[in-house]
Amino acid sequence: SWDTIPEMVLSAADRFGDAEAVVDGPLRLGFAELADRARAAAGAFAAAGIRKGDRGAVWAPNSAEWIIAAFGLQTAGGVLVPVNTRYRAEEAGEVIRRSGARAVLVQKGFLGLDFPVPPGVPVFDLKSGFLESGTPYECAMSGGDVSDIVFTSGTTGRSKGVMCDHRQSLRLYSEWCDRADLREGDRYLIVNPFFHVFGYKAGCIASLIRGATMIPVPVFDVDRVLELVERERVTMLPGPPTLYHSLLEAPGRRDLSSLRVAVTGAADIPVELVRRMRGELPFRRIMTGYGLTEASGTVTTTGPADSFEDIATTVGRPCEGVEVRIADDGEVLVRGYTVMKGYLDDPAATADAVDADGWLHTGDLGTLDEKGLLRISGRKKDMFIVGGFNVYPAEVEGCLLEHPAVAQAAVVAVPDARLGQVGRAFVVRRGQVSEEELIAWSRDRIAGYKAPRSVAFLEELPLNATGKVMKERLR
Ligand code: ATP
Repeated sequence: SWDTIPEMVLSAADRFGDAEAVVDGPLRLGFAELADRARAAAGAFAAAGIRKGDRGAVWAPNSAEWIIAAFGLQTAGGVLVPVNTRYRAEEAGEVIRRSGARAVLVQKGFLGLDFPVPPGVPVFDLKSGFLESGTPYECAMSGGDVSDIVFTSGTTGRSKGVMCDHRQSLRLYSEWCDRADLREGDRYLIVNPFFHVFGYKAGCIASLIRGATMIPVPVFDVDRVLELVERERVTMLPGPPTLYHSLLEAPGRRDLSSLRVAVTGAADIPVELVRRMRGELPFRRIMTGYGLTEASGTVTTTGPADSFEDIATTVGRPCEGVEVRIADDGEVLVRGYTVMKGYLDDPAATADAVDADGWLHTGDLGTLDEKGLLRISGRKKDMFIVGGFNVYPAEVEGCLLEHPAVAQAAVVAVPDARLGQVGRAFVVRRGQVSEEELIAWSRDRIAGYKAPRSVAFLEELPLNATGKVMKERLR
């Protein structure tokens, strides 16, 4: 058993030895070697002045070096701050500044090094040999120490740094491994970015806990994913719904027969997609779930015994030690050991998010059914009011998605002189359909005030790195 992430990495070295821990292009590292490299990196960080509790920012795409840097930093007692690779230099500089990082790791040539780093903060290139330059080192620490500060996606505004400790991640992702049926020897293609809670925790931490091989994918590209699935005999392939859409629509024949487990969430999942994943792809387990950075990334998941319909239309049941309650206004509240220690340097925002009884106010709207299954119906902030009536965009989007010519849909409110607000739909088509037809289609199926008043057709929706539609952009 283990109490900290570095202890868990060492235990993986003992338990899984030379089995492959990471496959990244020509680089193949066993579990024992990965642990050795993390300890050498810890030595390099210590030599660079990183002390217990100091933060280190990593601004780089998924790679073996990212993994070594992250676990190396934590082995040195440091706190990992993963930074969004979609950020422009200015935005990355801002998050790095806010995090108070004492070291910054980048991948030269991928994102560039020319961003504003606070004076005196050293910048290291992940691929320069820096990580290998240290004498093996380990800092004493305990499970209650902060292990990482992951920034939220910023879907609804400015992103916030979420502090969590070692124990929270280790306990939650041990259970997550069971729920996802992640097995020793599984080959896990990690498409989800490491800077997001899912890629880092459900990806890296879970793989090490269970002894699965991590295959990091730096930039999402369907052809590349298909090629890797075939070449590396990938068994585990979590991703946003768009990934599976791409697999289904990808031209060309690849051998995808090794695929066993799909895990998706983070956005609404069309029932039709789950149906096709079952019918047309080799997945035997499709797990859906719900989570947010402030609750260590996972709150609920569906289980293997859940019906096909429940997997498609609900996000499942809470993990052990986690309670979910629906407030009077429909907001999903979460309580338990997974709730963050707080937002970085923002006690007011923390107090807004976590109340005196320990309930995390998620900002999401949902319902619990008699079987204890949670359904997410939208975000509180996305709700709008048409002539006095509440409209939840998720419901309208669901209605549009049932139209055979609609591939993707997003609804936002626009001002209206008479009604205050009305809905405007943004639609990606996969067949012929007009604006008038879609408005009529909606009016036939949902209340008139919910139906969009206008429809705009786009080639694609603006998605963030976790596959969520950036509604601010649409507005
Ligand atoms: P910010 O808080 O900065 O606006 P964010 O909420 O997108 O960004 P994350 O923690 O990355 O930050 O995302 C969590 C959110 O993702 C949840 O609060 C919820 O709105 C959404 N989400 C997660 N899983 C699901 C799901 N299965 N179905 C619908 N929405 C989901």
